[in-house]
Amino acid sequence: MGWTADWRILNGVRDLSGISGLSKLIDGFIIPPTHLELNVVDHCNIACRACNHASPIMPAWFADPDTVFRDYAILARHYRPAFIKVLGGEPLMHRHLDRVIGAARATGIGDHFTLTTNGTLLDRMSDAVWEAIDELEVSVYPGVAGIEDNLRQTRDKARALGKKLTVFYYDQFRATFNLQGTTDRDLVGKVYAACKIANLWGCHTVREGYFYKCPQSIYAALLAGRPPEPDGIAIVDGTDFQTDLLAYVNATVPLTACANCVGTVGVQESHALMPRKQWRSHINLTMEEAVDYDWLEHSLITLDRCDDCKIPAGIKPAGFLDRLPWLRHAMSHFQLPSVQPTGIRLGRRVLRQPVEAIRADSGRPSDAEPGSEERK
Ligand code: SF4
Ligand code: SF4
Repeated sequence: MGWTADWRILNGVRDLSGISGLSKLIDGFIIPPTHLELNVVDHCNIACRACNHASPIMPAWFADPDTVFRDYAILARHYRPAFIKVLGGEPLMHRHLDRVIGAARATGIGDHFTLTTNGTLLDRMSDAVWEAIDELEVSVYPGVAGIEDNLRQTRDKARALGKKLTVFYYDQFRATFNLQGTTDRDLVGKVYAACKIANLWGCHTVREGYFYKCPQSIYAALLAGRPPEPDGIAIVDGTDFQTDLLAYVNATVPLTACANCVGTVGVQESHALMPRKQWRSHINLTMEEAVDYDWLEHSLITLDRCDDCKIPAGIKPAGFLDRLPWLRHAMSHFQLPSVQPTGIRLGRRVLRQPVEAIRADSGRPSDAEPGSEERK
């Protein structure tokens, strides 16, 4: 696309180092802002309306343990995430999940593996998978049958095995993909500048020989029928790889995929399951239709780490937060583990200088309320 400007600076970011979405070179290793994602499948056994991995319509795909080992072994010489988040799609649909996690762990890239699941298949989670992980995070979505029974059994099992278990409820999502995209490069730049995935959370991922800044860039490409590789960087065992990787992860220009993805500033909608056949038409939007302009404006001024679609179990009064979005946002700063408390993670706020009215720039009205952020 030929992007050249640093949109974060153009949009008034006061201090890039303070945002800390940057990866840093420390003691010979690239240290990313948080974690590396290990996407083990693309598909899912349920179909959430605003899935930000497009899993409801992704064809079945399974990560191969040997390929994971090959890529992670090279990466491990140069890159050290704080933890590895194992997800999908629905990761428990991978029949050799323990082998995939084992392959990644054997490379020495990290020693903490968190499995994130929708909880529907927990009753069939094998002892080998329990053994392979350090932490289990369950994302509970409204309308999914049988989840409370699964959670009861899982709490007992986690306690018995001494594994950390965290349960989050998501009853709001933000839109992510827009098939029609936009020709407004200024809007794409602003969406990218406001994207917490790119600028704060650092949700890096690896797939079949390539390293990507975010999983969404893979799925946006696949949705558009494009190969994702041009938005990634090849994992090669060469002398320049670490330098090239650091430049890639800290690059300040939008990816090609950003033209079809609104990152963390999509319009907010209640979570709902929907028929898979309708899923593609649901995202057949222009970028302008997918953006929550108020939230975009807010995010360009103030960026914080919290994800207020993510409500901790135990403090979720059903339906209550829908009427009080400010409380939802405040509560999301306190991401309390529900079973084995280990501390409170406070959302971090990064103040940005005001920018001009984006709504006026885009010429689009907005009736959306500022609200929560994307999951994952
Ligand atoms: S949000 Fe999670 S559970 Fe829902 S469809 Fe996507 S991958 Fe599956
Ligand atoms: S593809 Fe989406 S999630 Fe990834 S950097 Fe672009 S806007 Fe953010």
